[in-house]
Amino acid sequence: MARPADFGLRNQEPETRNPKPETRNPEPETRNPKPETRNPKPLVIPVFIPHEGCPHSCVFCNQHRISGVQGKPVTGPEVAEIIRIWLGRSQKKRSSRVQVAFYGGSFTGLPMARQQELLSSVGPFIQSGEVQTVRLSTRPDYIDSEIVVFLQEHQVATVELGVQSLDDAVLKRSLRGHPAQDVIRASALLKAAGMELGIQLMVGLPGQTFTSLRKTVTRVIALAPAFVRIYPVLVVAGSGLELQYGRGEYRPLSLSLAVLQAAWIKKQCTDHGIRVVRMGLQPGPELERSLVAGPYHPAFGELVNARLMLRQTRTLLSRVPPGRQVRLQISDRDQSVFRGIRSANIHRLTSLGLSDRFTLHTDPDQPRGTVQFVPNP
Ligand code: SF4
Repeated sequence: MARPADFGLRNQEPETRNPKPETRNPEPETRNPKPETRNPKPLVIPVFIPHEGCPHSCVFCNQHRISGVQGKPVTGPEVAEIIRIWLGRSQKKRSSRVQVAFYGGSFTGLPMARQQELLSSVGPFIQSGEVQTVRLSTRPDYIDSEIVVFLQEHQVATVELGVQSLDDAVLKRSLRGHPAQDVIRASALLKAAGMELGIQLMVGLPGQTFTSLRKTVTRVIALAPAFVRIYPVLVVAGSGLELQYGRGEYRPLSLSLAVLQAAWIKKQCTDHGIRVVRMGLQPGPELERSLVAGPYHPAFGELVNARLMLRQTRTLLSRVPPGRQVRLQISDRDQSVFRGIRSANIHRLTSLGLSDRFTLHTDPDQPRGTVQFVPNP
């Protein structure tokens, strides 16, 4: 759910806590302190809901450690003020849709009066046409048909579910407190209501084998969400996992395995038309301070993208006989992805004897994340 960027500590679960705006935003487009102005992406106005208590105890979450230290709940008038500020800032450049995003917390787990207060504060902006839709994140077991109707009445167009896994054994070991069937049910309700569905997944959960991951991804693809986020499980101070790790009962993924698994998920999703909008937690000093163990890298997503690019490149070059040289083309925005962090991909291609089999060219029209042969002039 959404807690990837949450407070650094809990960053693994977007749905519940909302520490500081600057670290909590799980969605790349919302992390930008400047309003997003490029079309056709909407302008996303982030509103952070400070943690208001969570009755669950997911094993990777450190909520109890930080409970009660996140400040006052944002009020309806404050939400309206945040929206006014963002609209004012972006006025000159704005020509896109505007969406208000409530981040942090399992929104639909809040008391109804609180949900009503927050959503009603957006109402006047929707009526005036300045804002078109609302997005929020929540747990799958906090969605039912009544809630969906309520959300629809308040122009909620995007709901992101903290799914993590669709394997009941893994959910149980992770102490998520609900079975996979709740995800299926919630997704069906949201999609039947015409809402955009987002799904958050984790790699490295206790008991999660690659077979389990494959089963989860197959089921996610069947649910056909609009987008997915992928987070590696980290052992953070104050979490149940920290205790298990200390007792030797849990072993985190290595960074390379986490990258490999995330790359595999991304490939499966993109092959099925599902956008992967984020990989890895939002880096920050709080997260780094609380990190006990696990596959943390501040540029985790870049590692995954570089891995995917290397794989495509190797596959293409494997068809090129030694002594021949071909032209490869990538997007002009993918040059650093092609090289990899600290030119790791180039070193790897060199070590495989493939670096002299191509010349590299860029084209702004080449789709991001892809590489292809182009004819010699
Ligand atoms: S315990 Fe679970 S549901 Fe509650 S905030 Fe943490 S990750 Fe989210």
